[in-house]
Amino acid sequence: MNILVCVSPVPDTTTKITFADNNTKFNTNGVQFIINPYDELALTRALEITEAQGGEVTVITVGTAGTEPIIRKALAIGAHNAIRVNLDPVDAMQVAKAIQVAVADKSFDLILTGRESIDHNGGLVAGLLAELMGMNLINVVTKIDVDGTTVTAVRDIDGGRETVSCELPAVLSAQKDLCEPRIPNMRGIMQARTKPLQVVEYSESATGTSVSSFELPPAKEGVKLIDAANAGELIDLLRTEKKLI
Ligand SMILES: Cc1cc2nc3c(=O)[nH]c(=O)nc-3n(C[C@H](O)[C@H](O)[C@H](O)COP(=O)(O)OP(=O)(O)OC[C@H]3O[C@@H](n4cnc5c(N)ncnc54)[C@H](O)[C@@H]3O)c2cc1C
Repeated sequence: MNILVCVSPVPDTTTKITFADNNTKFNTNGVQFIINPYDELALTRALEITEAQGGEVTVITVGTAGTEPIIRKALAIGAHNAIRVNLDPVDAMQVAKAIQVAVADKSFDLILTGRESIDHNGGLVAGLLAELMGMNLINVVTKIDVDGTTVTAVRDIDGGRETVSCELPAVLSAQKDLCEPRIPNMRGIMQARTKPLQVVEYSESATGTSVSSFELPPAKEGVKLIDAANAGELIDLLRTEKKLI
């Protein structure tokens, strides 16, 4: 069972987001990048499956050399080898195409992604990749089991769950609750230094979309504290100011 896990570098959740170039670019100065949290789940589940059934886990990141600490972290968590496509991606289609080209000479039974990147939140790469690779797709899954050439996944739906199966090879995207993410231990960190990291060039330009501008949400108003004895004032504010009742 060979599994490819797509790992997106995203800003640490404590990052103070600012923009550059007339609000058309995310300002990466001083930003600490981490593995997209959904991708950590995908990686952990991939490791669990290969530990039970044999095989290898390869991680792939489309990103510049600055993303290598993240790739090494994925290797420290347990991935067997890694590919970095040397490109600063501008949209999901470019990411999906770059991954398709980079793994064209390899064979994977399963490709796992996160349900979305927590920076651009597109939720597009899994679907685009499945189409480009001619593979089945099960999106946003909370459970993955592989039995022979069949993968079965559980998806949360409004008010319930559905269980979906398809034949391998397939692309699945990980949703929270898939598993408990693993953290690297000292042995893993040491081993990660010598695990293979292949760098692949990809030069096709982006595919049509471009960001006209980014903007931040309006600053939050300060908290208004109301004395517990003064319920009337609270009701009045909820009615007249917030128009909630
Ligand atoms: C400095 C910087 C600036 C960027 N500027 C832009 C921009 O202006 N507009 C824009 O759309 N994108 C930009 N990107 C790229 C962006 O981070 C995403 O990689 C890409 O746009 C896909 O985003 P998405 O939200 O559609 O992915 P989703 O479809 O939400 O991601 C789902 C899953 O796809 C996989 N995936 C996503 N991206 C990658 C990746 N790079 N490598 C490997 N797997 C991946 C992961 O498994 C992820 O969990 C920028 C990246 C960087 C580092």
